Amino acid sequence: METAQRSGIVARLLAFGVLASCAGPGGPPGAAADASAPAAPVVVGAVPLPPLDPIPEPAPVPVADTSTGPFITCGGPAKQGGAIVCKANPGATISLDGKPVAVADADGVAIIGLARDQQSPATVGVRPAPSPGATATGGEAYASLDVQPRHDTVSKFEMECKVIAPQSAAAKRHAELSWVKKDKAMHVFAAPLAPLALMKPAAGPYSSEFGVTRTYVPKTGDCEGSTSVHNGQDIAIATGTEVRAPMAGTVLLADPDLFYEGGAVFLDLGRGLVSVTMHMSRIDVKAGDIVGQGQLLGLSGSTGRVTGPHLHWAIKFRNVLSEDRGTDIWLDPILMLELRVPN
Ligand SMILES: [Zn+2]
Repeated sequence: METAQRSGIVARLLAFGVLASCAGPGGPPGAAADASAPAAPVVVGAVPLPPLDPIPEPAPVPVADTSTGPFITCGGPAKQGGAIVCKANPGATISLDGKPVAVADADGVAIIGLARDQQSPATVGVRPAPSPGATATGGEAYASLDVQPRHDTVSKFEMECKVIAPQSAAAKRHAELSWVKKDKAMHVFAAPLAPLALMKPAAGPYSSEFGVTRTYVPKTGDCEGSTSVHNGQDIAIATGTEVRAPMAGTVLLADPDLFYEGGAVFLDLGRGLVSVTMHMSRIDVKAGDIVGQGQLLGLSGSTGRVTGPHLHWAIKFRNVLSEDRGTDIWLDPILMLELRVPN
């Protein structure tokens, strides 16, 4: 742009003979030809130039003020049932499609879980925490990410009535107590203990996938069937296989006998993420324990609502800004293995 403007100016100067003519020293062309004539006065700038269009000042190059201004960089796995990992101002409030969902930790890292029906593109906003004494936060920045769709399937399972839903008064009481324990545990939030990188909690082939809609068909006619979405990833392993912590974390709940989950360990990984390993035959940790990645949590089994031995591994994303645990969402554990902080 600037070069073109200069070319335009040069072209106009040429048209007025200012630059192209070489008049020789002292005067305009022809002045030196008649030596007897009195020397013509040298007039400089006698030819008035028309006014030039003002040359606009170049636009200022924006300089990011990362000390106070909002900034955000995000990466995947941005798929329905996956998550967005962002780097933003430490302590900033992070929103998803306008709704506050997370707080960036001391390293500026925030995770935003994506529901199975998350729209695309997702808009992630960052609003820095106000600095001490300030009355305003200094604005908001946004990042937009395309979210890949899921293509989940539907499957049917034949099960006995007593594992589809609690039938007896004792079973109903068991289910109710289990729910109370889980609800209490899920209201506790621990700080992250490690960089973001998960590992598979047990060695074995994957079986039933996250996201499959399952219809439980009763084997007998004395109860109703039910339909639910499989909210974790199954790993096909025999009873007694070692189950290890997928990442360092704080044990929120370790119970040998929850109604649906059986023996289960709820491990807070920080940043809103909780790993849940279910149907375990032995539990080696207790609530409040801090465990390192790969530490033994117990052994797999076939406790709770199962059709056979396996490990059900689930990851829950909790909105740390909400008291309503009913709005928390389950994420696809295999996608969570890809979680990394963007550069
Ligand atoms: Zn499962």
